[in-house]
Amino acid sequence: LILAGRKAERSVIEVNGVTIGGNEIILMGGPCAVESSLQMSRSAETVKEAGGKILRGGVFKPRTSPYSFQGLGLEGVNYLVQAAKEQGLLCVTEVIDARSLDLVIDKVDIIQIGARNMQNFELLKIVGRIDKPVILKRGLSATVEEWLLAAEYILSAGNSQVILCERGIRTYEPSTRNTLDLSAVGVAKELSHLPVIVDPSHAAGRRDLISSLSKAAVAAGSDGLLIETHPNPAEATSDGPQSLTPEQFIQLAQELGAVAASV
Ligand code: PEP
Ligand code: MN
Repeated sequence: LILAGRKAERSVIEVNGVTIGGNEIILMGGPCAVESSLQMSRSAETVKEAGGKILRGGVFKPRTSPYSFQGLGLEGVNYLVQAAKEQGLLCVTEVIDARSLDLVIDKVDIIQIGARNMQNFELLKIVGRIDKPVILKRGLSATVEEWLLAAEYILSAGNSQVILCERGIRTYEPSTRNTLDLSAVGVAKELSHLPVIVDPSHAAGRRDLISSLSKAAVAAGSDGLLIETHPNPAEATSDGPQSLTPEQFIQLAQELGAVAASV
């Protein structure tokens, strides 16, 4: 690791007034998929009320089945951006190829590379040439070393603003969707200077575990959390079972304050 490897000072990423990797634990939330303008403005209200800083929402969805909802594309980006703006939040969305990046690059604050694309090396080189922060999810079966080498692709193409995101890895345990690897937070921070955040939603796959996993992530040294919330999870087009209700999201944010203060 030439560029991603540990340095004397940790990287701090400043993006339009929000600092990631500094002293504050940054809360990012929103639905898995952007579905409508109303759904996004309600989600933005929730994130704002919780003290979150960044609104998430996917518009190009890398779904396991080709028959599942694939996302609203450009129409959805506009709902995401508008809702974030209404509440003074920043926004993040996932890109899956060069074309989707072109469609969103001038509109969103942060670009997400999903777990399934962590080793899409051509895509990593492309986001390495942009001037926006990139959240790099850990691949479903990636080692920490492979994850950091994926970050190295982005850094070596010229983009120094990489945020690592642990989102659970595939193991033999079927009771959760993935297994949240909290050791990876400490390992990645030991081996690298990059900020590390945790997405407990895709790790657990079920909302009853999100609160405790989020608190554990903060205690483990995570620089932020990326959590799915939906105004009406029962009607979500994707990842409803793991999405927090607005009330749960706001309550979790309050409880996280106390955890953050104690670590
Ligand atoms: C997502 O954030 O909605 C997503 C698809 O996550 P992952 O790439 O971690 O599965
Ligand atoms: Mn999701």
